[in-house]
Amino acid sequence: MLLLAASLLALDFASARLHPELWPRLLGASALILALEGLLAWVFVRSFSRRIAQLQTYAERLLDPEVANQPLPTGDDDLGALARSLERTAPQIRGLVDTLKLESARRDAILASMVEGVLAVDKDVRVMFCNSSFARALGVRPPVHAGMALVELVRDPGLREIITGVLTTGQRMERRLTLPAAADHTFEVVAGPLAGSSTPGALAILHDVTELERLERVRKDFVANVSHELRTPLAAIRGYAETLLDGALQDEQYNRRFIEIIQAQATRLSNIASDLLTLSELDSNAGARQPTPVAIRGVLESALRTVESAARLRGVQLLAGRIDDLTVLGNELQLEQVFVNLLDNAVKFNRPNGEVRLEARAVDGHASITIRDSGIGIPSEDLPRIFERFYRVDKARSREMGGTGLGLSIVKHVIEQMNGTIKVESRLGEGSKFTVTIPAF
Ligand code: ADP
Repeated sequence: MLLLAASLLALDFASARLHPELWPRLLGASALILALEGLLAWVFVRSFSRRIAQLQTYAERLLDPEVANQPLPTGDDDLGALARSLERTAPQIRGLVDTLKLESARRDAILASMVEGVLAVDKDVRVMFCNSSFARALGVRPPVHAGMALVELVRDPGLREIITGVLTTGQRMERRLTLPAAADHTFEVVAGPLAGSSTPGALAILHDVTELERLERVRKDFVANVSHELRTPLAAIRGYAETLLDGALQDEQYNRRFIEIIQAQATRLSNIASDLLTLSELDSNAGARQPTPVAIRGVLESALRTVESAARLRGVQLLAGRIDDLTVLGNELQLEQVFVNLLDNAVKFNRPNGEVRLEARAVDGHASITIRDSGIGIPSEDLPRIFERFYRVDKARSREMGGTGLGLSIVKHVIEQMNGTIKVESRLGEGSKFTVTIPAF
């Protein structure tokens, strides 16, 4: 356009040389053309920059739902094509961002609800994320903000060493440790390189293995206790059998006594075996049949009959007090075993002419059964331990009476399986009171 105006002007000047009086007219026409050109260019540039501004706003606020509904500049030029392609890709980008947001919310929810502690650090040993379990184990109030230096968060040098070790070696590491903030807990840390991440880093998972360690200890102690318990009667049986074979068989004075000892020890072995079997059935839930309604009165009467002769032999009086008609949900045989064990102890650890009193009452929707004796009582320091397997206050006395040290642990196990509780109160030299509470049916 400008080129056209210039050539027109040149033509005009050429002809003006011939006619000088036409010069002002020619100059006026040229000025008009130039002004029109300028106006056209201004209109074009203005529309162009408005369309670009529209596109820029759209691109910058692509995720804003209000912007999504705004019309974009149209046209057949390049800007129009760009607008159309933006309109096509915008929903895809919005969908992708929504999915990412959802995934991130899911990840946060999973990490927050995890029992295990999870910590991720970047290559500069700065926290990328740390869930609340990890923070709590470190004694830090969650949330822990990303970007914090690991040394500020983790005071324990052992744990820091594992994480930095993974960053430098790129190798997975595992260690058991205790942390100053939770000194009574043992943790197992498994740390490894941050897999599937665009930035290098390390991920540490913290498992609380305190309960596992306790169970390992209990199992080891249990095996040691069982071996010890079996060794004593076995040694006695073997010793007396050898003595008999070595000539005592003909000894009229002692042979019967030795055989009685062998029989008593064999009975003890058989008691241990049967108590162990009961315990293992309870542990593995093998005997857990569908609970059925059990009438407390019938179970107590049957248990009383079982211990009757032992009580008579020891001169202990069995007294049944108030027995309410109560029904509980459970296993009748196991429940009977519970009361036989408790009554048997009350008789065994009693004094001559002592008594055992039994009562069963309805209390707050529960069956509350008490077995009170006038026996030797239990020292207060032993009270918290008497339900442990093989725990006996007076080992010699318990063994002498054929006790296995497993009776009360069986009792506790059965009662707890029925969602009940067992409580003991005792005074040394005055007697003991065991209270069993089971939800009534
Ligand atoms: P045991 O086979 O020795 O009776 P238990 O597990 O039944 O084993 O009881 C554990 C220990 O608790 C007993 O050895 C005894 O020392 C103490 N005990 C239990 N019941 C009584 C009680 N009624 N009076 C005094 N001591 C008791």
